[in-house]
Amino acid sequence: MVEHFKNKEAEYEAWLQENSTGFVFNYFGTAANNKLHHARCGQLFRKDNVDSRTTLDKYCSDNYAELEAKVISLCDDKWSKCGLCYKSG
Ligand SMILES: [Zn+2]
Repeated sequence: MVEHFKNKEAEYEAWLQENSTGFVFNYFGTAANNKLHHARCGQLFRKDNVDSRTTLDKYCSDNYAELEAKVISLCDDKWSKCGLCYKSG
């Protein structure tokens, strides 16, 4: 199941704690910034990093295939995987 969080800090943080092996997609609306992360990625927890902002549209799932399908429905191929939590591509 894909969950959507925006300005729901408590709910989002609870989800992260319960789904530490899941995935988080940050939807900025621009190809360069739309990023898919592992739920444990440090970028999501650095308060000085834009990827940690809870004012973003965040789509989260413990099921990678489901989340990827959602991401493609949102922005086609205009997104990428985080270079820090994914080794390549
Ligand atoms: Zn990441």
